[in-house]
Amino acid sequence: MALMKSSVLGPEAAGSPFWNRRTETMPRAQLDALHLQRLQALAHHAYDHTAFYRRKFDAAGIKPSDIHSLDDWKRKVPLTDKSEFIQLQQERPPYGDTLALPPEFVAHHCETSGTTGIPLAIPYSMLDTVRYGESWVYGFWGLGIRPSDTMYFAFSWGNFAGFWSAYWGARRLGCRVISGGGLDTKGHIQAIQRMKPTVLISTPTFALRIAAVAAEMGVDLSQSSIKYTYHAGEPGPTALPGMREQIEKAWGAKAGELLGIAEVDAMAPGCPLGDGVHVNEMNVFSWSLDPDTNRETAPGEMGENIVSGYANTAQPLLNYRTHDIVRRRDSCACGRTWVKFEGAVLGRTDFMVTVRGTNVYQTAVENILSQIEGVSMHYELVLTHSDGNDAMTVRFEPEPSMAPEQWPRIAADASDRIHKALHVRLEVVPVAPQSLPRFELKTKRIVDQRPKELRRALDR
Ligand SMILES: [Zn+2]
Repeated sequence: MALMKSSVLGPEAAGSPFWNRRTETMPRAQLDALHLQRLQALAHHAYDHTAFYRRKFDAAGIKPSDIHSLDDWKRKVPLTDKSEFIQLQQERPPYGDTLALPPEFVAHHCETSGTTGIPLAIPYSMLDTVRYGESWVYGFWGLGIRPSDTMYFAFSWGNFAGFWSAYWGARRLGCRVISGGGLDTKGHIQAIQRMKPTVLISTPTFALRIAAVAAEMGVDLSQSSIKYTYHAGEPGPTALPGMREQIEKAWGAKAGELLGIAEVDAMAPGCPLGDGVHVNEMNVFSWSLDPDTNRETAPGEMGENIVSGYANTAQPLLNYRTHDIVRRRDSCACGRTWVKFEGAVLGRTDFMVTVRGTNVYQTAVENILSQIEGVSMHYELVLTHSDGNDAMTVRFEPEPSMAPEQWPRIAADASDRIHKALHVRLEVVPVAPQSLPRFELKTKRIVDQRPKELRRALDR
């Protein structure tokens, strides 16, 4: 079969590494020209149809027609934050005055699982869901997944946008979909054995949990029909090479992942090289700033990812603070011209701690832990504050095969490797196996015990 599937801009050959070569390898000047056109249209759409953006633009003294360059966009268009949307939605549920389409155009409603407790309501139009799904297809295709594959969703179809959008992507690609729905872990394993899907869709930690339960049942999933696993929802194989190795070994499969933000888009499908994610620049305009000085950061520097989305026309997001710390690159050996985030998300502005003058990001610590033998995937990072200083303590469950007398040596090894890599000494404490909480969807690794006023608050 020479041609597998036609995309909007043209058919791509089955053997091509690109779902859509034209968009994925578009020269920077063309991409930027396209962004400017789309951002100008987005400004008009948001200003003309929502009282929220009209207030914001008026307060900043600008009109949509004042945007003549990407620099104008970064400097003039006010930053927006999740907390503003949540507040307006609480005052006037479900969407406050942020909805930019007539309500009858809302085809799907999701909510964020949220780290702060109050969920964000997210409306999507039918067209939004189609464009949102396409972001997944870029990632699926890059990993090697084709329309002839069958996807198994180990997902309970709650309000979590992540895997609904993966489903929209599966439909766009043309794969067969099998829903794991409300099955328990054992049920998932039996369904996979019976139905023989070729792709597993789940959070990365749930993929490992399924594999662990299968091993207890005497089932070797590395011999199963699964050829690919694809993940989202929490730091996964891109940020944590140790986790990639575990997933790929347990499933005998190639692991991929995507960085999505529920209210924005499945915005950054994984690079096939496995060391980062590429922003889907057909759906999102992204730049980054230093969260302390609000200065734009250059490629190679760490900064907060700021996004404007073209896929969410129902509830537009302009210069939206993601609070994700990223390090961007302008080029990649895979040939894609889309901005790359090395190692995906490196941390959160709200969970960054400064230990004795050194900024410590969650993912940097997790990355090291994932490579230490004897440390299981069950661990948490506890943030505290005393005498004017932040501190981070690592609490981990040793692998069950490790005898308790080995635990102190594993903890010392972890502490040394963190010190060597990050130049900061953290307390590392082993805790009894099975003592830390388990999560089905998003694993909560950060326990922030600092006084509220000292946190770099998400809702600032
Ligand atoms: Zn790449």
